[in-house]
Amino acid sequence: MTKNEANYLSHLICSRCGNSHAADKLQSICTECGSHLLAAYDLNKAKQELDRDELSAHPGRQWKWAPLSPVRNKENIVHLGEGATPLLPLQNFGKLIGLSKLVAKDESINPTGTFKARGLTAAVSKAKEFGLSKLIIPTAGNAGAALAAYASRAGMQATVVMPDDTPAINIEETKAYGAEVILIEGLISDAGAKVGEMVSQGDYFNVATFKEPYRVEGKKIMGYEVAEQFDWQLPDVIIYPTGGGTGLVGMWMAFKQMLEMGWLESSKMPRMVAVQADGCAPVVRAFENGDAETTNWENAQTIASGLRVPNSFAGHQILKILTESQGTAIAVSDDEISAAQSDLGQTEGIFTAPEAAATLVAAKKLSASSWIKKDESTVLFLTGAGMKYL
Ligand SMILES: *Cc1c(COP(=O)(O)O)cnc(C)c1O
Ligand SMILES: [Zn+2]
Repeated sequence: MTKNEANYLSHLICSRCGNSHAADKLQSICTECGSHLLAAYDLNKAKQELDRDELSAHPGRQWKWAPLSPVRNKENIVHLGEGATPLLPLQNFGKLIGLSKLVAKDESINPTGTFKARGLTAAVSKAKEFGLSKLIIPTAGNAGAALAAYASRAGMQATVVMPDDTPAINIEETKAYGAEVILIEGLISDAGAKVGEMVSQGDYFNVATFKEPYRVEGKKIMGYEVAEQFDWQLPDVIIYPTGGGTGLVGMWMAFKQMLEMGWLESSKMPRMVAVQADGCAPVVRAFENGDAETTNWENAQTIASGLRVPNSFAGHQILKILTESQGTAIAVSDDEISAAQSDLGQTEGIFTAPEAAATLVAAKKLSASSWIKKDESTVLFLTGAGMKYL
C-alpha cells in the first residue's frame, strides 16, 4: 500500500457532548444529544507515516488528501475534478479598500459552479462506501445541484427539496442531472422539515448540512489547500460567507489537524470572520450578544440565497471558533452586496456570487475600522459563480 492509499479515520466525535461513535457504521447525528458529529483521525500515526510534501505533490486535486478523509477505499471516490482552486491576488480591489495583501480563493471553478461540490463529493463517496442508493437534501439551491451531479455519477437516486424562489438555473441544473426536484413554499428550514417527513416514511439518507458527518470533511480540504498555497504558514484573516458554516468549521478542523501533525511552519492561526446578510444574521446577532448558541432568525430575507439559513445546526461551534480565533462576525446589506459584486467585476474580471460578494463588503468595512491592518494577508472565500444567479 502506498502512502496515498492509507486512511487514518479513527472514530466520530460529537461536537457538543464529546461522545465517540463508530466510524465504520453509517451515522447521522449524535445518538446521545442530537448534535452534529465530526470525524476524528489517528493523527499520531498520520504524523509518522504521511509525508506532507509527498501528498502535496500528488496530482489528485481535492482527493489527494484522501488519507485524511472519511473514505476508506479509494475505489468509492466519486469525483468530477473538484478542489485545487486558485488563490487570486486582488490588487485592484485591494487598493480600493486599502488592503495590500488581499487574495481570493476562487471556488467558482468547482464542478456545478460552487464550493458545495467539495462537500457533496465527500458525502456521496461515503454513501457509496456504505452501499446507499437514495439520498435526499434540503437546500437553498447550490447544494442540491451538487448532490444531484455526484449522485448521478455514482448511479444513485437524488431527491432535492428547495424553496420555489430558488434561482431558476439551480432548478434546471438539478433536473438536468436526473434528480427528483420538490419545490416548497418557504425557506431552507421549511425544506428541512419536508425532508424530515420524507425520511421518516422512506429509506432515504439525509445529507442536509451537519445532519451527517461527511460533507464537512470535504469542505475541510479548503483549509489544507490554503495552508499549502501559503507555504504552510496560515494567513492573518479568513473571511467566510456563513450560512450553515460547514466551510468555517471544516477549515478550523483542518488547521488543528495540521498543527497536530506538525505540518505548519508557525502555530499562528488565522482570525476567522463570519459574514452574513443583514436580513438573516443569526451568527452575527449571537456573537454580538456574547451568546453560546444561535437562535432562529425570523423572516429571513436576502438575495444571497446561500446565506438565507435562519439557524445553523452548528451555531454553537461556529461561535466558539470565532471567539477562539479572535475573529468576528459582521452583517452586510443586499445593496452593499450588489455594489461589491459590480466593483469586483469591473476591477478584477471576476463575476462572483452574491454570498461571495458579501466577503468583499466585510473586507472593506474591517479595513475601514482597522480591524484588518493594511498589510495583513486576508483570504476571501469566493464560494460560487455569479452565473448561477441569472
Ligand atoms: C452554501 C453557500 C454558502 C454558505 O456556505 P456554508 O458552508 O453553508 O456556510 C456560501 N456561498 C455559496 C455560494 C453557497 O452556495
Ligand atoms: Zn452528543
